[in-house]
Parts: sequence; C-alpha cells; structure tokens
Amino acid sequence: MKQIFIANWKMNLNVEESLDLVKKIDSLLKKNKDTEKNDVVVCPSFLSLWAINNYFNQKKSKIKLGAQNIFWEEKGAFTGEISPKMLKEVNCQYAIIGHSERRENLWESDQMINQKVRTALKFGLTPVVCVGETFEERKRGQRDSVIGRQVGRALEGVKKNEFRKIIIAYEPVWVIGIGQAVEPEDAAYSHHLIRKVLFKSYSEKIVAKDLRVIYGGSVNPDNIDSFICQDGIDGVLVGSASLEADKLVKMVKSFSCPKRKK
Ligand code: PEP
Repeated sequence: MKQIFIANWKMNLNVEESLDLVKKIDSLLKKNKDTEKNDVVVCPSFLSLWAINNYFNQKKSKIKLGAQNIFWEEKGAFTGEISPKMLKEVNCQYAIIGHSERRENLWESDQMINQKVRTALKFGLTPVVCVGETFEERKRGQRDSVIGRQVGRALEGVKKNEFRKIIIAYEPVWVIGIGQAVEPEDAAYSHHLIRKVLFKSYSEKIVAKDLRVIYGGSVNPDNIDSFICQDGIDGVLVGSASLEADKLVKMVKSFSCPKRKK
C-alpha cells in the first residue's frame, strides 16, 4: 500500500499564489521522482481547482487534486455548496470530510459527515475522514470514546466493497496549527484504535490491508519521519507546513522509512 501525503491549504492562497506553489512543487518533485513512490495530493481552495487541474494536465503531473469539503447532494437548490459531481469535472480524486475546523465553526455533525462520506463514495471520490478529540475531551479521558463514535458514525452504511477507498485522518484537534505535534507513539495508539473500531464492521484482513489511516496535526519537515516510521501510520495530512514549496518537498522526500513494517 502506498503512503500518502495530503496538503491542506485551507483558506490560504489565492488562485495565482496556489498556481505558483503548485508549479514549484511539481518541478521540484519531478527532479526527485518522489511523486511516483507515494501519493501526493494538494487540496487548494475551490476557486483554484480548475486552474490547477489545467496545469497538471498540461504538465502531466503525478500530483493529485483534493477538495477541502463537499456537499452531500449531486445538484439542486443548495446555495453556496459544491457537489461531488462538480469536483469530478476538475479531476478531484479526494475530498477532506469532517475537518475539525468545520465541525467546530460550521457545526458539522456526525450525520452530515456520514452523508458526505457516502456521497463522495457514490461519485468516486476518496473521502479523507477527519476524526480526533479536543483537549477538553482528552483531559476528561474521552479520547477513545470520541474517536470510536466519530469513526463509527462517519462510516455508517458504508458497504464492504466501498470501504477500501476510505482514508481516515487522525487529527487531535488541540495540536492542529500550533507547531507542536503529539508524540508519535501516542498517534500510533489512536491509529490502532481506529482499526480496532472498524474490525467490528469489516473484515480484519481488509482493515489491515486496505485501509489507510494517516496522522495530521503540526507535522513539519523535522518531525515527519517520526510519524511515518510508526507501524500503522500510512501517511500524513499537513496544513501550515505544506504552504511552502521547499518544506513540502522535503517532507515528501522523507517518505520512505526503511524501518517501517506495514
Ligand atoms: C490540518 O488542519 O489538517 C492540519 C493538520 O494543520 P497543521 O498541519 O497546520 O496542524
């Protein structure tokens, strides 16, 4: 199974800035041939997707495109929303769903997240489902129950044959964007927990072999190795540190951990 590096640019970079960054990343990665070993995905704002897709097509880039969110309907009277079908038109292959910033600022519920996951699958987008506890929940000893609930609800009704396409991103909310990640062993524990939760509904073999569980939360060029060398961590979701071409390329180049078993 390939490891995956996903860059989440959030509400940063206008179209021109996103294109500039993409051009730098693409040419640096091509020099290193590192895009082929692993999946590299960038998730710019919706506005930049069209231009970046054109650029990737022109340059035959191996970098893939992802959206930061989707809506759960194909089309209709849903002012301000973007449908998965529209995202497919600009060659989006991934969609971040249930990011903690949306759960918190836009009151996205487990039910909305589940609807989005199912619609993404229906339209052939790979959902990158974000789960993770807040600092208060962790202090109250609720990490395991929060992760269990979020994972279980997000995947309700997902069939065994669809399950393989899903990526779960474990993102402890309290370390997002602060520059200080959790201990890698701590993240690895949550990754194992996520798999354990899913053993109940899907075959252990499928979960072990096909499900990618990745870590997000203050990953940077100095700490990335310590995460991807953990057994069971299949990649990373990176915010702030992915906004600079040199840092992003340095992180992608770190991506082969000789010690890694899975
Ligand atoms: C994120 O928002 O998904 C994220 C991981 O951000 P950062 O890397 O900045 O913590």
